[in-house]
Amino acid sequence: MIRIALQSKGRLNEESIELLREAGIGFESSKRKLLARSEDFPVEILYLRDDDIPHAVERGVADLGIVGLNEYEERECGAAIVHRLGFGKCRLSLAVPKGEAYTDATYFAGKRIATSYPVILRKYLAEKQIGAEIEEIAGSVEIAPAVGLADAIFDIVSSGGTLVSNGLKEVEVAMHSEAVLIATRELSAQKQALLDQLLFRIEAVERSRGKKYILMNLPTDRIADAAAILPGVKSPTILPLAEPGWSSMHAVVDERELWRKIERLKEIGAEDILVLALEKMIL
Ligand code: ATP
Ligand code: MG
Repeated sequence: MIRIALQSKGRLNEESIELLREAGIGFESSKRKLLARSEDFPVEILYLRDDDIPHAVERGVADLGIVGLNEYEERECGAAIVHRLGFGKCRLSLAVPKGEAYTDATYFAGKRIATSYPVILRKYLAEKQIGAEIEEIAGSVEIAPAVGLADAIFDIVSSGGTLVSNGLKEVEVAMHSEAVLIATRELSAQKQALLDQLLFRIEAVERSRGKKYILMNLPTDRIADAAAILPGVKSPTILPLAEPGWSSMHAVVDERELWRKIERLKEIGAEDILVLALEKMIL
């Protein structure tokens, strides 16, 4: 049995649950239950606030956890990062009132900066050798300059819309963040084996993201041309059709290139093209 800490509600909750589901680990996600057991994998889910996940995993209260890299860094977490998960992407940035003349980070010398991430900010300022005052506040950081609590802010940014609507502009990016899977340093052999199994499944799910499975019929003498357009996982699958001189070809395609490739395949005589969803890719 392995215990995984997930955010109980918030921006990482749904995607964390979805990732585990796609990895074949289903469980109850009732908002009232703090602990849930999976029926199909020896795993137990512990729902926590994201602030508490790094410490819980560091101390071994949970064996694994899914948390933002920003939260992991802020808590100076001693757990190990075992996998970057690619969702919950955001950055931690410095922002100033939009009317300010800004040239470089020396601007912040002697300024008051409001943030919920004092540890990360302190390290950033020390690295740049800037002496600024840090105002630690738990939330509503964006409002701090307007109400005279600070001159600037250091906070999470994704689209930048919140900054703009508060009359601020982003001027420095201190770190990029995404959700990460973290693990207790000393897992038992049995738990390590479960973690390896979980990672294998997560990688299969990730590999299939943005990929489609494509099938088509084409004249057998155009297979080499089609193979050049569609390099598959190793090599495309070719099956003969009942009609002489024709074959069926199957391959995996990157979704972003799908339409361009279909156009080129049609040019070389491909017909009856089917595009299917790809769920898992196990190599
Ligand atoms: P909790 O109640 O669990 O303490 P919270 O309010 O502290 O939640 P959320 O706003 O749910 O936290 O954000 C959780 C994590 O999601 C952040 O630490 C960050 O890694 C990521 N995140 C935050 N804002 C965004 C965003 N706008 N876009 C993408 N990811 C984000
Ligand atoms: Mg939090």
